Amino acid sequence: MTELLKAGRKNIQKAAAVIKGGGIAAFPTETVYGLGADGLNPEACARIFEIKGRPRFDPLILHECSAARARKLFSSIPPAAEKLMRKFWPGPLTLVLPKARTVPEIVTAGLKTVAVRVPANRHALALIKAAGRPIAAPSANRFGALSPTTAAHVRKQLGGGPDIILDGGRTAIGVESTILTFSGGRPVLLRPGGLPLEEIEKLAGPARPAARGKKPLAPGCLKKHYAPAAKLRLIAPGAGVKPSAKAAYLAFSTVPPGKWAAVKVLSRSGDLREAAAALFGALHSLEASGAAVIYAEKVPPHGLGRAIMDRLRRAAA
Ligand code: AMP
Ligand code: MG
Repeated sequence: MTELLKAGRKNIQKAAAVIKGGGIAAFPTETVYGLGADGLNPEACARIFEIKGRPRFDPLILHECSAARARKLFSSIPPAAEKLMRKFWPGPLTLVLPKARTVPEIVTAGLKTVAVRVPANRHALALIKAAGRPIAAPSANRFGALSPTTAAHVRKQLGGGPDIILDGGRTAIGVESTILTFSGGRPVLLRPGGLPLEEIEKLAGPARPAARGKKPLAPGCLKKHYAPAAKLRLIAPGAGVKPSAKAAYLAFSTVPPGKWAAVKVLSRSGDLREAAAALFGALHSLEASGAAVIYAEKVPPHGLGRAIMDRLRRAAA
């Protein structure tokens, strides 16, 4: 059952406890409502995709309560990004920079960069502070639906999904954050949003758009960044492919017989949430085995299985 609670002191503590325990809390930010989970807990993050009904893994934005804590999520920060953080955080600016090791791969959908921001909403800041960890949160709507700007929107779309919805009233800005990355020290606009580009350019110099025309970089554009070096072949579970020391094997729930270059099992109990949380790490480690081909078992095509299959199909393409 989802609890809809006013965003007061006590309820924010309650929501923080939910997040620390691996649960899901929807909360207001200054842009839109977010669907929040412990950003360092892969299984909790997998639940976000499950609740949204997202048929694929898009990278999530990590929310922190101060620039000092946000910096720890990056492994390097260009000087211009540093200037922007000082000026615009807290605020509707998301920075995409090389990730620290502590950031789980499901958060970045396998990318080596992570998106981070500090929201300018006192309830959001209090929640993150009380949780004591970054909160991973996409907009709290069902996949393909409009972003929610009130707690009632969240309940209507996702009622029954999150453990808690914190009601902090209507969001002040109502559109998503501006997403910016850097290339060769120069800013690159990934998505226009709540912070005008002109403001950014005054400090960081001219930004180039990531894609041609006015369209923001479609999440689909990101996918080609992640293709394993090895050939990936999709197979039916237990299809009985001939074992080889030159091939790696990605099993859904059962260890395959025979000798392989490397084997990973996504979930021994056949749990799709556990499998989703393990997917990117497993693919990277099989790739690191140096195998020329990776056999990947298909997973059941429902719930998170759809997103897992989407990723495997892209890797196999
Ligand atoms: P939202 O669902 O509104 O939180 O949007 C998050 C968006 O941030 C995604 O759709 C991505 O396009 C973008 N994003 C997050 N992480 C990255 C990244 N590492 N590289 C590029 N874009 C990112
Ligand atoms: Mg969204």
